Amino acid sequence: MKHTTKVTECPKCGGKELGKGHQHSSYSVMYPSNKLSFGYDVEYIICTECGLIIESYVEKPEKFKGTL
Ligand SMILES: [Zn+2]
Repeated sequence: MKHTTKVTECPKCGGKELGKGHQHSSYSVMYPSNKLSFGYDVEYIICTECGLIIESYVEKPEKFKGTL
């Protein structure tokens, strides 16, 4: 999955050093709420200055269709 993020600086502190994080812990994955399913990894764009999570993405968004 490719993300095209247009964020280039932190909206909070103006920091321009952004990083990308990936949650792999089994405690922090996201699960479709009405399905018995595996959890999916969540990817983050974070500010390396203040730690703000600017954007977050779940690995397989299509798996969450119809869960609401
Ligand atoms: Zn920041």
